[in-house]
Amino acid sequence: MDLDVLFLGTAASAPTARRSVAATLIRRGGERILVDCGEGTQRQLMTSAWGLAELDLVLLTHPHGDHVLGLPGLLKTLSLRERTAPLRVAGPAGTRALLRALAPLVGRLSYATDVVELGAGAQLGGNGYRIEAVPTVHSVPSVGYALVEEDRRGRFDAEEAARRGVPFGPLFGELQRGRDVTLADGSVVAAAGIVGEDRAGRRVVLSGDTRPCDAILAASVNADLLVHEATFLDEDLARARETRHSTAREAAELAAEAGVDLLCLTHVSTRYPASAIKAEARSIHEDVEVPRDFDLVAVPYRERGRPELVRGGGRDGAEPANPPVGAVVP
Ligand SMILES: [Zn+2]
Ligand SMILES: [Zn+2]
Repeated sequence: MDLDVLFLGTAASAPTARRSVAATLIRRGGERILVDCGEGTQRQLMTSAWGLAELDLVLLTHPHGDHVLGLPGLLKTLSLRERTAPLRVAGPAGTRALLRALAPLVGRLSYATDVVELGAGAQLGGNGYRIEAVPTVHSVPSVGYALVEEDRRGRFDAEEAARRGVPFGPLFGELQRGRDVTLADGSVVAAAGIVGEDRAGRRVVLSGDTRPCDAILAASVNADLLVHEATFLDEDLARARETRHSTAREAAELAAEAGVDLLCLTHVSTRYPASAIKAEARSIHEDVEVPRDFDLVAVPYRERGRPELVRGGGRDGAEPANPPVGAVVP
């Protein structure tokens, strides 16, 4: 199953000509999860290769403007497209109040919103994965998120099953599920030795805005991908502490300690060139990228390779395939 992460907005605090504010889209199979929705996110989605596809879930890290101001417009547009499926919006304490405050801007919607507030340790169940809310340390209540896939069953050795006399058919299925089977002659064939060890699922963590913290460190142990904020460089550590943000060095130290495969630094400031941010982090953790908007990271299963950044991999200049139904054209 495909799992990838599309960077829709990578700027800290305010958009620039090149970078939009915080928004990241996780795509797993046919599911789409939007993490944060800064101003302009719906246009970023339309400009992306996937268009303004139906979203299954919106996760908010915290209610600062650069992470949520795109929400009223996005909710409205989905309604103009006559969405009927309920949309779940989850975030830290205060998310319900935020949605209530935005309601007058949005007006009546064609679908229901299901707002969930996630405390420390809260989880949202998915099909074959779960989303864990990770408490973070910022100037307002905030959470990061870990997408954690369930372990997969070990490899099934069909040749070995046949060699042990198991006839092709339903008994193969039983073995694949890890159950021992009894053959027609009464002999028992154990699944062990035919089905390998369970294989780890993938783990993707997004920090949101935060000081480096133990909860993100714990969630990131052996993660395939950590998307961590890096608002400052080490030279401005005092500012990072004061404003409850992280430096590139701190994010890299955390990634190295957790044994993260690929570290992507985001929420970057125009104060520094991206090359300086990358260089600072690379001196500590080998595999670091500083994605631009519309860069994409594909996260393969471990046995198939390492996560890799594809420059502009999520960009598409084409017009959206499905213009809003009922949209007013001036
Ligand atoms: Zn921010
Ligand atoms: Zn913030």
